[in-house]
Amino acid sequence: MSPATITSDLPAAQQPNWPDRAVLDDAVAQLATYPPLVFAGECDNLRDRMAAASIGEAFVLQGGDCAETFVHATADNIRDRIKTVLQMAAVLTYGAGMPVIKMGRMAGQFAKPRSKDTETRDGVTLPAYRGDMVNDFAFTPESRNPDPGRLLRGYHTSAATLNLVRAFTQGGFADLRGVHDWNVGFVSNSANRRYEGLAHEIDKAMRFMAACGVDFEAMRATEFWSAHEALLLDYERPMTRVDSRTGDLYDTSGHFLWIGERTRQIDHAHLDFVSRIRNPIGMKVSDKADPDELLRIIDLLDPHREPGRLTFITRMGSGKIRDAMPSIVEKVRDSGAIVTWICDPMHGNTFESASGFKTRDFDDVVDEVRGFFEVHRSLGTVPGGLHIELTGNDVTECLGGAERILDADLNKRYESVCDPRLNHQQSLELAFLTAEMLSQ
Ligand code: PEP
Ligand code: MN
Repeated sequence: MSPATITSDLPAAQQPNWPDRAVLDDAVAQLATYPPLVFAGECDNLRDRMAAASIGEAFVLQGGDCAETFVHATADNIRDRIKTVLQMAAVLTYGAGMPVIKMGRMAGQFAKPRSKDTETRDGVTLPAYRGDMVNDFAFTPESRNPDPGRLLRGYHTSAATLNLVRAFTQGGFADLRGVHDWNVGFVSNSANRRYEGLAHEIDKAMRFMAACGVDFEAMRATEFWSAHEALLLDYERPMTRVDSRTGDLYDTSGHFLWIGERTRQIDHAHLDFVSRIRNPIGMKVSDKADPDELLRIIDLLDPHREPGRLTFITRMGSGKIRDAMPSIVEKVRDSGAIVTWICDPMHGNTFESASGFKTRDFDDVVDEVRGFFEVHRSLGTVPGGLHIELTGNDVTECLGGAERILDADLNKRYESVCDPRLNHQQSLELAFLTAEMLSQ
């Protein structure tokens, strides 16, 4: 794979104000010489899997931090996040009766769009934190100064993360029997009695498979894909390479890239960039989306109507999804376009709690997923998957769930540097509840 040169004069929203152009150019030039993190053939395989999800023959689970950080990219944290996604996927596989496409918001989720360019605390105003690949979270002028060296550290941290992801998911950690045992442990906690019935059914299915002589050894490994928001063009462009097999361009920073709600202007650089690469791509769609504009975006990103190429990740809010989503999905369906619909029940449900924490209520998250299924079922379209901000740790960032996290608990273990994540327990609960919706 040789380096590709993608440039554009189009405006790009949400880019850092790098202080020194020469230092940036040097970092970008170095990135262009680094080995790809993923390969073109892998991206093609994922596109095929996503095509199955678009017609209801697979279900997608994307999960991970809102913002990964360099210091938290430890073996334990990565392991526990993978474990959470694998546990959720096992439950969803049973509920859906379909393969689950497992994807981490991982190994590249280091850049964040912000609603304001600056942050003010106690009368001091500094540049906003834009993710570890740009600046540091600490509220000092030095930390908040954008540093192009962070692009390189982002690459290396992504490489190390992906290496561990590949090792865990190929080396026996993903063994279905082990994952199932973890889930048995989860429902043995008295707070989770509600999910015992479904867990018991899965247990019976496992014993049935064993009795039939199913080859469990073949289920020791699983595919696990990397995904992140393609936000920072100074990282994504130099990671884009020419596929030696076909001459096509692939962004080799991750298998699946998505464009966020704030950077999806049709005449701007981000959509232009992803229109040129062959990776499967996603785009966030809020309740404010204009259906006619979405059709123009589909023409730009998926002119050949290739199944699996384009995913719309809806993020409407639990109070809006039932009103806002039908006309959007209908219009896309009637145009003959093929998109995979995924529900992000996080970003439309964020609010500030009385004690001042940015949070989400577990019940709102569940209700948005419920609304997502209701709308797709009423239109005869396909609910293709979930996109969740989660961690494998026992943080207290989102309210509710069986552990009943209250506003007063949020300060106990609030560790996210950006949006609040479901903790391990809440993530599994969401998987059990979604599995029930899938099997209805
Ligand atoms: C995100 O996924 O963290 C995010 C910023 O989402 P959105 O673009 O939908 O606001
Ligand atoms: Mn977020």
